[in-house]
Amino acid sequence: MGKRKKSSRKPTGPKKREPLATTFTCLFCHHDNSVNIRVDRKEGVALLMCKVCDQRYQSKVNHLTEAIDVYSEWIDAADAAQNEPPPRRPAASSSRAAPRAAAPASDDD
Ligand SMILES: [Zn+2]
Repeated sequence: MGKRKKSSRKPTGPKKREPLATTFTCLFCHHDNSVNIRVDRKEGVALLMCKVCDQRYQSKVNHLTEAIDVYSEWIDAADAAQNEPPPRRPAASSSRAAPRAAAPASDDD
């Protein structure tokens, strides 16, 4: 008798209409809901477009990809484009740990 069906699901209504957000804030012009994302699962592509500054981004999608995924991908891509990688990093293996001695306040009585 260890099987107890726990059905504490709240009825969310017969028609679950998910408000899939497909409009987002533009990274570039910062307009709200100016970025429109169309996910075409049949074609396997997503097209992101800002109607204000005409910024575009295209990405591949799969059956799990949502518009928000494309959006975050776009953010990553834009982020990577902005933060250009450092030309060369000297691999310094010096760990400089500066121990800070807590200086007590010289407030003698
Ligand atoms: Zn824009």
